[in-house]
Amino acid sequence: MLVFLAGGAGYIGSHTAVELQNSGHDIVIADNYSNSSPEVIKRISELTHRDVAAYEADVCDKAAMLRIMTAHRIDCVMHFAGLKAVGESVKKPLAYYRNNIDATLTLLECMQKCDIHSIVFSSSATVYGEENPYPYVETMPRGRCSNPYGWTKSMMEQILEDAARADPRLSVVLLRYFNPIGAHQSGLLGEDPQGVPNNLMPYVAQVAVGRRDHLTIFGHDYPTPDGTCRRDYIHVMDLAAGHVRAVEYAAEHKGTAVFNLGTGMPYSVLDIVTAFERNSGVRVRYEFGPRREGDLPEFWADADKARKILGWSASRNLDDMCRDSWNWQKRNPAGYKTGCL
Ligand code: NAD
Ligand code: UDP
Repeated sequence: MLVFLAGGAGYIGSHTAVELQNSGHDIVIADNYSNSSPEVIKRISELTHRDVAAYEADVCDKAAMLRIMTAHRIDCVMHFAGLKAVGESVKKPLAYYRNNIDATLTLLECMQKCDIHSIVFSSSATVYGEENPYPYVETMPRGRCSNPYGWTKSMMEQILEDAARADPRLSVVLLRYFNPIGAHQSGLLGEDPQGVPNNLMPYVAQVAVGRRDHLTIFGHDYPTPDGTCRRDYIHVMDLAAGHVRAVEYAAEHKGTAVFNLGTGMPYSVLDIVTAFERNSGVRVRYEFGPRREGDLPEFWADADKARKILGWSASRNLDDMCRDSWNWQKRNPAGYKTGCL
């Protein structure tokens, strides 16, 4: 199949691009590089030994999307393009609603014009909101989100569902990611946040490589086994494999399907620090700070539906995640800006 990856130069899109090509699919990428770099495209090509059709384009630019969709015989769209920093979304809600919702509407409208009837969407566990008990199951209703980023995901799910209800030819697969970490085992691809990392693993890796002095652990008085928050961390290459199954599922099923992509196993912030130290041999300095507003004490996935219906489950453990994150950070201390060591 030919898969169009909107936002495909980003962290999850780039790993999925490699996995798709290695599974025999073809890809086209569009990205405005607002949170990535053209260097990623070179590295995808290096890893797969294939040329990659890549366009520098904004997914909200309808004319540009129509040009790409008419130039290629696309079977499925994977929609990764979006702004994703939770804290920034609180400060700049309009930028988040504009970019994320606009990108989704534009893709759907262009797909309709170009007779493309399949879309796989990057959603998030955040749509379960604050009220649902864990583990989260796909049958639970979407909840109340604690920030505009979360609301954009919840609204985009609704938009996609409505589009599928109105057009019986359309397949929509909503993938609710839990906490993706890790990197491609080669060390050529990984997570390269701009500025100070918001997420735990890139922060830990940057402390280990000497770019930051210490990690602040947000809260250690939660009602969890060691007092720090627990999350369901998943290796980005397992996530990428889940996308390959999703695209194949979408080719055979109409309507909307929702899948959690997680391991079903929660780890605490202190578990992550300990596992990272064990796998890197480097000490990660940390101190405890106050809780971060909006953080839930813990949540994890019920991962049964993806296992039963997609035949997918995560195969990499926490040691694999930490080892690959460290390998990426060690080989690319300044991210994609400098060549890979
Ligand atoms: P990322 O920022 O690395 O990738 C997103 C890519 O989209 C970037 O390359 C960025 O340049 C591009 N982009 C953004 N807006 C665009 C636009 N208007 N036009 C063209 N390109 C645009 O993020 P990621 O971690 O790879 O996440 C991919 C998707 O998965 C996002 O939608 C994100 O919200 C979602 N998600 C991520 C996580 C996570 O923890 N990483 C968790 C749940 C959901
Ligand atoms: N966290 C932390 N220090 C940091 C970044 C994150 O203690 O510098 C904690 C955060 O409170 C949460 C967990 O690590 O409990 C995972 O946070 P992340 O932002 O990576 O993912 P989230 O689950 O919030 O989307």
